[in-house]
Amino acid sequence: MEGETPMSEVRLRLKDRCFICDKLDSEEYDYMCHVQYSVTHEEEMKRLFLSKGFCNGHFWKIAFLTSPESVSKMAILLIENGKIPTGCLICDYLLSKEEAFLDEFRKEMAAGSPETSTVSTKPLCEPHFMLAGNGLDAYSLKYLAGIHTDHNRQLLGELKSFVAKRENRSARTADEETAWWRVVERLVGRKGSVR
Ligand SMILES: [Zn+2]
Ligand SMILES: [Zn+2]
Repeated sequence: MEGETPMSEVRLRLKDRCFICDKLDSEEYDYMCHVQYSVTHEEEMKRLFLSKGFCNGHFWKIAFLTSPESVSKMAILLIENGKIPTGCLICDYLLSKEEAFLDEFRKEMAAGSPETSTVSTKPLCEPHFMLAGNGLDAYSLKYLAGIHTDHNRQLLGELKSFVAKRENRSARTADEETAWWRVVERLVGRKGSVR
C-alpha cells in the first residue's frame, strides 16, 4: 500500500552499515595505496600532490600506510616546492566518488518504484540519508524515511539491550556488541568523513 514500509524486509543485519560509507572506505584505502606509490614515481601525481597536498587526517593515514622513506620523499617535495598546499587530493577524490555513488542511488530510485528498487532498503547514515534524498519525489522520500526510521528503531533496541546487559556481558548478542560502533557512524557519517 502506498506510504507503507514493508518492515519485515528491512531488518538490519550484523555489520550492516551505511552502504555509501562502506564503499567510500574501500575507495579511500585503494586510492591511498595508489597515491602513496605514485606521488614519488609519476609526474602527474606529483604535480597533483604539489598543487593540492594532503589534509591533516589523510597525511597521517598515508604516513601509517607507506614507508618512512616515502613519507620523507613526500616531505622533501613539499619543502623544496616552497609552498605547503592547503587542499587535499584524497578528500577531493572521495567527494567526487561520493557524488557518483549518490547519483547512482538516485538513478536506481528513479528507475522504478521504491518497493521494487534494489537500493531503497539499504542502510544510510544520517548525512548520506539527507544527501540521497535531494531531488527525490515526495513518495520515494517518504518511503526512504520509513526505512531509515525503522533501522534507527532496531539500532535503538540493540543499544538499550547492550547497556542493560552490563552486568551480564556474555548475554550480549553479536549485533548488540557492534551497535555502539554502528550508531556513531550512523549519526555523523564514517570516521574521517570529508563533509
Ligand atoms: Zn554514510
Ligand atoms: Zn583529506
